[in-house]
Amino acid sequence: MAEAGEKRRSDLSVLLGYAGNRRGLTFLGLGLSAVAMLLGMAPYVCIWLVVRDLVAVAPDWGTASDIYAYGWMAFGFAVASIAVYFAALMCTHLAAFRTASNIRKQGMAHLMNAPLGYFDNNASGLIRNRLDGASAETETLLAHNLADIAGTVTMLVGMIALMLAFDWRMGAACLMAAVISIVAMFSMMGGKNAGLIAEYQAAQDRMSKAGVEYVRGIPVVKVFQQTVNSFKAFKEAIDDYSDKAGYYQDSVCRVPQSINLTFTEGAFAFLVPVALLLAPGVLASGDFAGFVTDFAFYAVFSAIISTALAKIMFASAGIMLAGTALGRIRQITDAPVLEISDVPIEPQSNRVEFRDVTFIYEGATKPALKNVSFTVEPGQTVALVGPSGGGKTTAASLIPRFWDVSAGAVEVGGVDVRRVDPHVLMGQMAFVFQNSRLFKTSILENVRAARPGASREEVEAALAEAQCADIVAKLPEGIDTKIGTEGTYLSGGEQQRITLARAILKDAPIVVLDEATAFADPENEALIQKAFAVLARNRTVIMIAHRLSTVVGVDKIVVLASGEVVETGTHDELVGSGGLYSRMWEDYNKAAKWRIASDGEVA
Ligand code: ADP
Repeated sequence: MAEAGEKRRSDLSVLLGYAGNRRGLTFLGLGLSAVAMLLGMAPYVCIWLVVRDLVAVAPDWGTASDIYAYGWMAFGFAVASIAVYFAALMCTHLAAFRTASNIRKQGMAHLMNAPLGYFDNNASGLIRNRLDGASAETETLLAHNLADIAGTVTMLVGMIALMLAFDWRMGAACLMAAVISIVAMFSMMGGKNAGLIAEYQAAQDRMSKAGVEYVRGIPVVKVFQQTVNSFKAFKEAIDDYSDKAGYYQDSVCRVPQSINLTFTEGAFAFLVPVALLLAPGVLASGDFAGFVTDFAFYAVFSAIISTALAKIMFASAGIMLAGTALGRIRQITDAPVLEISDVPIEPQSNRVEFRDVTFIYEGATKPALKNVSFTVEPGQTVALVGPSGGGKTTAASLIPRFWDVSAGAVEVGGVDVRRVDPHVLMGQMAFVFQNSRLFKTSILENVRAARPGASREEVEAALAEAQCADIVAKLPEGIDTKIGTEGTYLSGGEQQRITLARAILKDAPIVVLDEATAFADPENEALIQKAFAVLARNRTVIMIAHRLSTVVGVDKIVVLASGEVVETGTHDELVGSGGLYSRMWEDYNKAAKWRIASDGEVA
């Protein structure tokens, strides 16, 4: 419990820290909210004064001259309370908006330094939800809940003081109901029930995650004519949630919540019996008028107890929500960042070297690369080949620092890539991976993204070199056509050619590319191969090769299997050595022959 309190305080101070120089406004807002609450209680005192005067002159009501003044005072206090509360919310909102915007800005600034691989592992929707959604959620706490908590605590203290000031016995009777209500409320949340709430929330999380998976898998469910039961994980998550929710409601909440609601609204339950008990003694003492006045005060005043308790409940829910929102924000702000050297060194050439590189993905038990060493001399083309899962993509990703090595070093121009200024490193290389994306803008802007200063003519030349002439020709507005708008969707192979134009326009001396032409039909494939050839010309190229036909003429082939370099050499050397590559080459040729034979049959 103490630990939870500690955490909550630190959550709050973390959130307030984001408000920057508007932090003080939060405290001003809380102070004003407290004042507003005190002002809000004053009309009840005025009512008590009116009742007192009326009872004193009864039945000669007309002589109670001060009651008008009290009435106006009550009105004045009520208006002042509203005005001050408005000012309080103004302050807390200004601070809350600044907090939310600073969370977004700082989160984005942090992500700018995250390695590119982070964005492969974290979908953009997820990042947006974490950063944008969660920062918005903190607003409820900072703008409303905190002010309500400050106000309500002040109100409770003021209420207790007032209640005990007029007639402590009737005051205690009213407070008794509030105490029972509060105890019942906390009994649902504290002790072993805190663990149940955590389990309940975890079950809810699992259910929503399984729900997302289910929606993603709907096409499969439909194609194979399955029912919801086929998504066992989803069904189990729903059943588990339903069990936990049912148990929590029936066994934990039912009785305390009934007590809570009854006594929140039921201060009379104690007030009336206590008043009846006290009445005979008061009659004997002769101050019956004062007693009736006090009773009237408590009868009116006890009504605000329920308002206060409801506010506490909503405010504590707000704190819980802000806690989970902060957790999601932390997933962004705790994301690893690329270490940037204080004294960057400029690479002196376009030579790429892997020196005893080992790399383990976060959370993985086995290294994806083990003691990998090879060099790519300036102007050479080196192909990475090997069985699927061998580590080709991982090795290529380490050059532009999608990830940083776990051990060893990747060097460009004789300098460890971690010592190179990231902008210089990025400027020196172009990479074309399978998941290279196009933006929903014109072809011109899509290609120009690689070099914003490029002229229209340069973009056109790059498109021509990337064999995109046919794509541009068929689009209604040529290179000014917006991709992704109605009727202008490009096929996978066409998109790949546009991303190649981008790389050609960048004109970087080192090219890291994945030659996969998975989306391409034969015609597209031939064009893509031509574009590859243009891109590779006079550049240092590291190519992830999937089909051995493309590697026959390269300067060097590095064969990666299970994360290790098993062979290095030219095509002829490797075929002659009788190792893994030569077996792959044999299989490839058999498959090619088989294809020709089967084509022949069909023909
Ligand atoms: P290849 O490109 O040769 O098919 P990869 O480099 O993609 O091989 O994969 C090498 C190993 O690393 C595989 O065992 C794969 O499961 C693992 N791996 C690849 N990407 C990730 C990732 N983002 N997180 C964890 N493991 C990964």
